[in-house]
Amino acid sequence: MKTDQQIAPPDSSPGADLEFDVEKIREDFPILKQKIYGKPLVYLDNAATSQKPQVVMDTIHHYYVTDNANIHRGVHCLSQRATEAYEQARVKVQRFIHAAESREIIFVRSATEAINLVAQTYGRKQVQAGDEVIVSAMEHHSNIVPWQMLCEEKGATLRVIPMNDEGELLLDEYEKLLNPRTRLVAVVHISNALGTINPIQEIIERAHQQDIPVLVDGAQAAPHFEVDVQALDCDFYAVTGHKLCGPTGVGILYGKADLLDSMPPFQGGGEMIRSVTFEKTTYNVLPHKFEAGTPNIVGGIGLGAAVDYVSEVGWKNIAAQERELLLYATQQLSALSGLRIIGTAKEKASILSFVIEGVHAHDVGTILDQEGIAVRTGHHCAQPVMDRFQIPATARASFAFYNTREEIDVLVKGIQRVIEVFK
Ligand SMILES: *Cc1c(COP(=O)(O)O)cnc(C)c1O
Repeated sequence: MKTDQQIAPPDSSPGADLEFDVEKIREDFPILKQKIYGKPLVYLDNAATSQKPQVVMDTIHHYYVTDNANIHRGVHCLSQRATEAYEQARVKVQRFIHAAESREIIFVRSATEAINLVAQTYGRKQVQAGDEVIVSAMEHHSNIVPWQMLCEEKGATLRVIPMNDEGELLLDEYEKLLNPRTRLVAVVHISNALGTINPIQEIIERAHQQDIPVLVDGAQAAPHFEVDVQALDCDFYAVTGHKLCGPTGVGILYGKADLLDSMPPFQGGGEMIRSVTFEKTTYNVLPHKFEAGTPNIVGGIGLGAAVDYVSEVGWKNIAAQERELLLYATQQLSALSGLRIIGTAKEKASILSFVIEGVHAHDVGTILDQEGIAVRTGHHCAQPVMDRFQIPATARASFAFYNTREEIDVLVKGIQRVIEVFK
């Protein structure tokens, strides 16, 4: 077994803040203080949803206590305050992902809705019979089913970039799939089931060489490192708020302005129109064209507070802490006999999927829960990934910057208990 000394402490990472104190950070997350069955909660299900810092909850509370009104239409003070807060949040998100303009940020319900929006507008306009859409073998169902539905409707074909046994996409195979009938490439930035960080820049470049636009599912990436949509040059980027320390029910779709402009609207209703008569409706400008009806106002504002919070913690600190946790957990878990890690790509985020010989993942999760440890078990909305590895399910521990080495030690003890029980 390897020793702890082989793992660099977070402070030795270039640029990491020497002041970073995980215990201080944990003070911002009151939920983490509780006990589960009398044991301290060890929350390792961050890839399913992250916990919310106090500032996000305070922002939501403050909004309802002082500013609540409908936005964009009211002349009264509260409506103006609410509108301003909502539009400020859009600018915060724009800066957070380095979009060129705030009108390129469309507030949606979730990453799922962001992808469906593109499939139902861009997709329905551009994809015709005989055309092709490319996804990868490690997509979340959210980035498979909308394209499948579209392809079925249009008589188009879904093509899949394969991956190797480590859980890395085969770029040579990808290259072969690109052809003049390809209308879109839709690929995940970080796999929620495997933790793989895909070489998304290269994937985008290769598609662009043939003038094919690329949608990136960034649901897992946005919480783990700085995303720069302009540097990536992606055409669409989907983010979900609740995995990013923000509230549920809000996410964003980034799209290049000229592309969004050329797309038909998604849903019809209030706000997305310029004028309506029974003969004809004309549509509003970006981003309102894609935001029909009263949006999740407080959700957007809460997401704004969340991205501010994450920025304040700092990407270097987040990267250093999560890298340390991933290395330490990988090392500790690898040493357990009968445990196999699923997803061993060279480039990985702090997501650890594993199976234990002779034990169903569900039982792993149940026994860990009794120890106060929250992990996810199942197919992680990525059934094709399970099929690829010929397993029914995995247990998955996913770490955030507020997790600690001590929590990983608790996890390891818990897994040892599982192995004992099933011996
Ligand atoms: C969670 C997740 C989604 C879907 O996010 P929702 O918030 O459920 O819409 C899509 N893709 C990946 C990779 C995810 O992890």
